[in-house]
Amino acid sequence: MDSFSRRSMLAASAAGAALAAATSAANAATFGNPDEPPQGKINANAGSFRDPGPQNPALSSQFPDATDPPATDLGDLPQFWASFNNSHKRIQNGGWARQVTQADFAISDTFSGVNMRLAAGGIRELHWHLAAEWAIMTYGHCRVTVLDQKGRPYVQDVKEGDLWYFPAGFPHSLQGLGPDGCEFVIAFDDGNASEFNTLLVTDWFAHTPPSVLAKNFGVAEETFKSIPLTDLWIFQGKEPGPLAEAQAAVASAAGAPPFPFTFSLSGMKPFRDNKSGKIQLADSTEFKVSQTVAAALQTIKPGGLRELHWHPNADEWQYWIKGEGRMTVFNAGPRAQTQDFKPGDIGYVKRAAGHYIENTGSTDLVMVGVFRTAEYQEVSLSDWLAHTPLELVAQHLNIDPSVLAKFPREAPGLMPT
Ligand code: MN
Ligand code: MN
Repeated sequence: MDSFSRRSMLAASAAGAALAAATSAANAATFGNPDEPPQGKINANAGSFRDPGPQNPALSSQFPDATDPPATDLGDLPQFWASFNNSHKRIQNGGWARQVTQADFAISDTFSGVNMRLAAGGIRELHWHLAAEWAIMTYGHCRVTVLDQKGRPYVQDVKEGDLWYFPAGFPHSLQGLGPDGCEFVIAFDDGNASEFNTLLVTDWFAHTPPSVLAKNFGVAEETFKSIPLTDLWIFQGKEPGPLAEAQAAVASAAGAPPFPFTFSLSGMKPFRDNKSGKIQLADSTEFKVSQTVAAALQTIKPGGLRELHWHPNADEWQYWIKGEGRMTVFNAGPRAQTQDFKPGDIGYVKRAAGHYIENTGSTDLVMVGVFRTAEYQEVSLSDWLAHTPLELVAQHLNIDPSVLAKFPREAPGLMPT
């Protein structure tokens, strides 16, 4: 609801008169606005609603549902909005990166996020780290290299809509390809993981005695006289040659990994698909290597609603890619809070907390939800109620069973169908 309550809507509707009468008997002054004392602008006179300041209109205008919450919102949910848009960019020749870790975003204990750009030829240097790395490509083309725990190498090129997943500790690299490099978002499966604190190949070389390097690699000490003494992290390199040549060059007697470390999420047959949008999944059932991360790419058409639902087995870390929308999160208490999201923003919903998303723009809203689990799970509110004895539900909600029977019966994912 925007600026008027469901109660006033019903009162204005002759067709709703009978239902309004039944409801008002049970819950007189509070339908659409159930709190005592009443909350929301609908209950405030002009003087009480006015905000004399100080103000930052450019910033507050981005968050209409925080400055003027729906009257059904209440309580003290922790902040579930963050953004790459205002996080520090570490820019080097060859690309840049910025991140939002749990230090920036307290609620986000299962994931930290990194947004990275690599120019054509730009290299994120050979490295590894404690967390597993899941990523989605949002622009351009990138080449990934990784070696698995049995010494089996993997090299592949990815494009917009593709994923990669590197299990914890597997060494890897990334490089932007032509014509204009790439951009992507990484989700580490640990809220404290930092892209600025990884194990770098240059650091180890620089901090190992030349005599040890010579013995380890079976070459003369002078081989290492020109190694960089500080790390490279991101640097401008030469664009690589054809993929097939790179794959042939790295071939090992150990063979190839049994499952690919990359995956086309945007190419997946939708899990839900109707006129209001679609949901595409990539979890370990299809993307075999992705044992700690499941992903749901959600496209919501203008006017569409991502239905009321929750996830029983994991928190949802969200990266908002295109369009704009608002999400309301519900939790015990009761607590309910609405926040607005734009491209580059991050959302977070705790395991089992109810939520829904409305497309508030005029273009498709695209958002990817990431879950620290091997298997994607969701429960639909309408599916639950449709498959509970209607007489039982009717006694909870004071809705006639004949009307309850019209609720969607097959977890549509998005409404209207
Ligand atoms: Mn990495
Ligand atoms: Mn969800």
